[in-house]
Order: sequence, then structure tokens, then C-alpha cells
Amino acid sequence: MRIGAAIVRERLARLFRNGPLDCKLKSVVKFCVLASGSSGNAALLATGKTRILVDAGLSMKELGRRLALIGEDLAEIDAILITHEHSDHVSGLPVLARNRKLRAVIYLSRLTEPSIDWGETRPERLELFQSGSEFPVGDIAVRSFGIPHDAVDPVGFAFAAEGVRIAIATDLGYVPESIKFHLKRTDLLLLEANHDLDMLKVGPYPWAVKQRVMSRVGHLSNKAMAEFLIEDLDSSTHQLVLGHLSEHNNHPAIVEMVATQSLCQRGLRTTVTIARHQEPSEVFQF
Ligand SMILES: [Zn+2]
Ligand SMILES: [Zn+2]
Repeated sequence: MRIGAAIVRERLARLFRNGPLDCKLKSVVKFCVLASGSSGNAALLATGKTRILVDAGLSMKELGRRLALIGEDLAEIDAILITHEHSDHVSGLPVLARNRKLRAVIYLSRLTEPSIDWGETRPERLELFQSGSEFPVGDIAVRSFGIPHDAVDPVGFAFAAEGVRIAIATDLGYVPESIKFHLKRTDLLLLEANHDLDMLKVGPYPWAVKQRVMSRVGHLSNKAMAEFLIEDLDSSTHQLVLGHLSEHNNHPAIVEMVATQSLCQRGLRTTVTIARHQEPSEVFQF
């Protein structure tokens, strides 16, 4: 049954509103970064009713294994939301889409969909959205927003559920004003801290790749991350997760130091966690 536009608007308004009704509900909202980095990206966002995966850049087997580590099951995922078509975000997607034991509906931007190599047949469980649009997935309100990155139609996401707001912004060359708006008033923010500029410059990548990474449609440096924290991080963000660290051109200790110094400069008590490639992060609960 198709839901009318007015009803969808009303549902979204209710989900995004941090009203007293939402505060009374004691359901837990969970968030976990299952993997983060150029070798694969995936994160889980779950309420008592709805389970969303953001990106599927791990094999189905590895995704299942990492979900099991945090007590979750791939068969119970309701939706998979894709940020862009780079392989570190979609390498497991065609296999997941073909698996008949899974029920997850795949959400991706209308322009991104044709750039996915689905194999023999295009899957049936697809929902295409326009970058910049808002839509509900179960009891989670999803807001997509365009990001500057060298993909067809890359997006970040801001989520609202049970009065909790979570935003994801990785794979972006810089943080434009339009994105800063979407990262306001979040309880948890997953932000990119891809490379240390000095390490990148002397690192092993060919010059053309270095230029791509440093460009306005590449990846966010530690320096750009620090500038965002100093000038724009909302004081409501009490959990900051830094991710998509380069394996060759960054180090978790450097990222942690840069972020801690920036937060001290602001006088913020935001907790910082570094998301890794090899293992799931802790499960953040709200
Ligand atoms: Zn990318
Ligand atoms: Zn990526």
C-alpha cells in the first residue's frame, strides 16, 4: 500500500521533532561502526523496531560475523542504505541483494543505482531516493544530503529516532556550509579523519592519487577535521566517532591527539572514539 505524501510528511515531522512524547519512550537506539576505512565500510543503526545498515563494504560472511559479535543478525536487517558506489562501500552489496533469506530493502540514490554492478539481474528490493530528500525507514527518519566526493551522487545521512540524532559524513573533500547544517544538533557524529597531510605527502601513493585524496572531492584530512571541531562542532554532540582513517597515511594516535586538542580548545567534553577497519566499534546506546 502506498503511503500518501501528506502522511509521510507528518510522520517525518514527528520523527525529527525532539518532543516530550519522544522523551518518554525509553527504547534504546543503538549505533555501531562495523568497519571503517578504505578496506570496507558498514555501520548499524537500530531501534527496538528497525535495523538499518549504512553501506555494505564487507563480504556477506564478514558482515554477518561482525553483526554476530554485537548480538545482531543479518537476516533481521530491514534496510541497507548506500552512501556511494565506491567498492569500499558496496563490495558486499550484490551478494546481499541476491540472497533470498534476507529481507533488507536497499536504498540508494537514483543516480548511484546504475553505477552498481548487480551481476545478472537487478534486484527487486530497491528503493531509489533523490539526494537531499527525507524518508522514513520504519521508525527512523532519514535525511540524505549531498557530499563533495568523486563519486556519481555521493550522500551523507542524518537520522532521527526516539529523539536521538545521529549523522554520518565520511568520504568528503571538505565540509561545506550545507553539510554543517545537517551535522548540527546531533547526539553522535561519525566524521571522516582520513589522512595526515604530512604523512600523505611523503607516503607511498602515486602523485595522482595524492592529488585526488587532497582535492575538494577527495577525503577529509585531520587538519580539516580539526577546523570543523574548532569552528563548527555542535556542543550537543557528546559522542564523536572519527573514521575512514587511511591505513598508510594516518595513525589512530595522531587522530585522537588532533581531535582532543581541538575539543580542549573549544572547551567541549565530547567523547572521541576512533573507528577501525579490523573490528567493530563499541555499541553506542542512547
Ligand atoms: Zn569513496
Ligand atoms: Zn570510502
